[in-house]
Amino acid sequence: MSDEHQHAHQSFETRAIHAGNTADPLTGAVVPPIYQVSTYKQDGVGGLRGGYEYSRSANPTRTALEENLAALESGRRGLAFASGLAAEDCLLRALLVPGDHVVIPNDAYGGTFRLFAKVVERWGVEWSVADTSDAASVRAAVTPRTKLIWVETPSNPLLGITDIAAVAEVAHAAGARLVVDNTFASPYLQQPLALGADIVVHSMTKYMGGHSDVVGGALVVNDDALGEELAFHQNAMGAVAGPFDSWLVLRGIKTLAVRMDRHSLNAGRIAEMLVSHPKVTQVYYPGLPDHPGHEVAAKQMRGFGGMVSFRVEGGEEAAVEVCNRARLFTLGESLGGVESLIEHPGRMTHASVAGSALEVPADLVRLSVGIEAVDDQLADLTRALG
Ligand code: PLP
Repeated sequence: MSDEHQHAHQSFETRAIHAGNTADPLTGAVVPPIYQVSTYKQDGVGGLRGGYEYSRSANPTRTALEENLAALESGRRGLAFASGLAAEDCLLRALLVPGDHVVIPNDAYGGTFRLFAKVVERWGVEWSVADTSDAASVRAAVTPRTKLIWVETPSNPLLGITDIAAVAEVAHAAGARLVVDNTFASPYLQQPLALGADIVVHSMTKYMGGHSDVVGGALVVNDDALGEELAFHQNAMGAVAGPFDSWLVLRGIKTLAVRMDRHSLNAGRIAEMLVSHPKVTQVYYPGLPDHPGHEVAAKQMRGFGGMVSFRVEGGEEAAVEVCNRARLFTLGESLGGVESLIEHPGRMTHASVAGSALEVPADLVRLSVGIEAVDDQLADLTRALG
């Protein structure tokens, strides 16, 4: 039975631990070895053992991860890259030519926006911004040259929610493909391909790795021809995930389900505390009943995730002060690790969107709620808020 068929009927938690993780044929090791190797001995010219010839093209540890990624997203092909942006870059250069148009969200990771505005635009690809939480706004932004609609849900850093199925319909009616950056949700909480998306993007640096010890990216698709096209570009462009990085992510994924449950639980408690805090003027968390995307999130997600953003009374300096005063919440960029992080998006992760349609509020603080004891997290934030 092929790996794909063997895992198709299994639940997420089981797939996370077993897909791609077959015992090593040589020793029986239950964890795939780190094949720290660049090239492979051939039995006569072209006589490949197991199909491997050069580790940019394929490496067994990366293959294990790629099979796992496909199974996690209920897709047919997973591809692992050196970073989330490397995955995005490969996707854009594989699928777009000069004159093509892309619809991008009005809230997204600053680096994704920078890739469109400062890199891809230079090759003559056009883009426009839409409020993707409103399918009509997306439809209005579509042009006859639109090839891709890009969505981040929940979005970074404002936790906006896009109805994936509704935007997939808009994309397909326009003959375009829908890309969903599933980094904030992880495949445990949200399955974009099943909702109609064509391509899923991940920064594996975040929840997939889960321990703030690796940078990586992924693309997952459920169309074999598209998978082949992307795999061709992955090899032709070369920004692949290395064997050790692949191994670290594969290890992180085994606990993804239990981590996401705890991240979601803790984040929900923190969001509730912030809502009633006198120094907090607004809380962004899709689990809150008055979040504008709450109903859509409840429909398309299994839980609301570990990211919470909020605005602080007193403006930018007050927000920066809260970040500086936190202790258990480590002041730092990135997200999705077991340890809690706090940051000021305006000056840190989203400095590159200043002055654009994606500019974030100056008094915004973003939390990546870890899996420490929630009482310790609450105490730290209460103290930091003063
Ligand atoms: N997408 C989202 C939602 C992100 O938060 C990030 C990084 O912060 C990226 C993509 C880019 O990933 P990487 O930093 O692994 O290149």
